[in-house]
Amino acid sequence: MDVKRRGLLLGGAGASAIWAIARLAKPEPAQAQPVTRWDREADVVVIGSGAAGLPAAIVAQEAGSSTILVEAEKDIGGHAITSGGNVPLGGGTSVQKKYGIADSPDLLFRDLTDWSVVEPNGFPDYRYNDREIIRAFADNSAACFEWLVAHGVIFVDQAPDARGGNSVGNSVPREMHAAVMDWPMVQTGKPADPAIQATFSSGNGLMRPLEAAARRAGVDILLEHRMTAIHRELPHSGPVLGIAVDNNGAIINIRARKAVVIATGGSTGNVNFRRMFDPRLTEEYCGLAGMPWSNQDASGEIAAMAIRASLWGLFNQSAEFGYSVTKAGMIGCQYGYRNLQWMPGSAVFARARATGLPVANWQNVILVNMLGQRFFDETAEQFTANDYNSIDPYLQGSWRNVKTVNYNPRNFLNAALAGIGDGHNGGGPIWAIFDADAVARARWEPTPPNVDSDGGFFFSAATLAELANKIVMKYQRVAMPPENLQATVARYNSFVDSGIDEDFGKPKPLYKIEQPPFYAAWATPVLHDTRAGLRINARCQVMDLNGEVIPGLYCGGESAGGFSQHGLARATCQGFIAGKHAAAETARL
Ligand SMILES: Cc1cc2nc3c(=O)[nH]c(=O)nc-3n(C[C@H](O)[C@H](O)[C@H](O)COP(=O)(O)OP(=O)(O)OC[C@H]3O[C@@H](n4cnc5c(N)ncnc54)[C@H](O)[C@@H]3O)c2cc1C
Repeated sequence: MDVKRRGLLLGGAGASAIWAIARLAKPEPAQAQPVTRWDREADVVVIGSGAAGLPAAIVAQEAGSSTILVEAEKDIGGHAITSGGNVPLGGGTSVQKKYGIADSPDLLFRDLTDWSVVEPNGFPDYRYNDREIIRAFADNSAACFEWLVAHGVIFVDQAPDARGGNSVGNSVPREMHAAVMDWPMVQTGKPADPAIQATFSSGNGLMRPLEAAARRAGVDILLEHRMTAIHRELPHSGPVLGIAVDNNGAIINIRARKAVVIATGGSTGNVNFRRMFDPRLTEEYCGLAGMPWSNQDASGEIAAMAIRASLWGLFNQSAEFGYSVTKAGMIGCQYGYRNLQWMPGSAVFARARATGLPVANWQNVILVNMLGQRFFDETAEQFTANDYNSIDPYLQGSWRNVKTVNYNPRNFLNAALAGIGDGHNGGGPIWAIFDADAVARARWEPTPPNVDSDGGFFFSAATLAELANKIVMKYQRVAMPPENLQATVARYNSFVDSGIDEDFGKPKPLYKIEQPPFYAAWATPVLHDTRAGLRINARCQVMDLNGEVIPGLYCGGESAGGFSQHGLARATCQGFIAGKHAAAETARL
């Protein structure tokens, strides 16, 4: 660092001066600014109220450390509250024991570091996991589960199974399911049908009880407080001292006497950040799962990197397994993740704008790129991931396991992301094209609020040529030639006649597209998990580029790297670990 500049800033700000990293609106090299005033303070400051943040805050507060939790959005929960509530915590939980499932921290650890588990695309689920991080998860997994139960989360009363998660280990069933109970659901704005409240699994049933526990414990929850910077004594050395937050335009500084916990939920919503892992993931992938309830804008990662934090486990983000990139399941709307449908009663429906048309049978549509050309078998599926019994027979760490893997790359998503060969990155919009007969078969109502016509995610017309001409929206960077769409549909219809898809091998194409009106519905792939993030150690302390701990800085959940697993278990458990160690720090007076 420039010593003269440092002296100036310290001198100008007096003895209590510290450095702040300038606002993070853009991921650019940060500018240092002196901070002279703290508006709030607590022992521990947690950033983000999702699956990692709420447990971290509750644990810290209950351990006797006053805790402030800041949340960017108007409500708590993050992606976790929109989730399916399937929580693969294992290692010997009370429920596993009750149902005679023999699990242990060692078994869990070996499962999640098994080099021999490989997906049909050839990608290993666990090979690049950080052993130290997985060991900590395995050792704390069962305790975290019991802690959730003790803090009001009610799990569906059944044996753990294999439903809902991925990359959770092959040896034994570990999935538990948070019952929604009578908590209003963020997706609909109202409680679920009483008949299914104890059996229907939902992130609402995980996060609302944790919110209540946090409030009971005395955690100070500040909504609409978006962290914009992390303050460190000096930009590249010394302890972390607090954070800057933006509260509806007012910037305030919150001091953390002991520690700051980053639980901001990952980075796939940040176009430039995600493209470091995969250059194909350009702007048109605007329908991140979990949005618009909350974003994953990489703000935690970028703030930490500005004070020298390192990223970690980067392979896991680009690898072809799990849900990092998913096939759309709702079409005709921006937010088309298959397991999340926004209904008009939701508090965020004005931002979601449409429920989307759920696709149960891809025979009802063809999928075309910006040029109106098909690119793959529409019925093909997305990437897979390891779960209980995915490999059968399975022998941990055995060379024999690969013999049971049928190498057969699932390439739908790769074809969708391939682009149109014009030198641009990104696959561009993918449109589902269908006709009035498909609408009748699928029982769709292709009108608002089911589809988003005003936003440019849905079009209809009396002819195919007219339809192609109508497709104008911000991500359609070249016009769709009407003759292309007409030719594509005519050729596809001929495949229905012959029963053979000569271009892409779709199993027996069933339905012609011939009955007006014709429709084009947004069906572009949806981004989801972040599986790479900040480097942490077993205590969830953030590490810098020299492999040194950044004093007073912790991280858990999707913003932390080194752990390839879908969601809630690793996030809750790392929040649980981070909260404990953050509270155990010595307060800086
Ligand atoms: C639809 C859907 C279904 C899912 N289903 C499952 C499932 O069944 N099982 C499973 O294991 N996983 C599931 N997941 C994944 C799981 O929800 C996430 O992996 C998990 O919530 C990640 O926890 P987190 O704490 O890292 O992030 P989140 O839960 O997303 O929480 C991050 C929070 O940080 C806030 N935040 C971000 N930046 C800032 C900032 N700068 N300042 C202040 N606050 C900020 C966000 O607004 C958000 O509230 C699902 C996800 C989705 C979207």
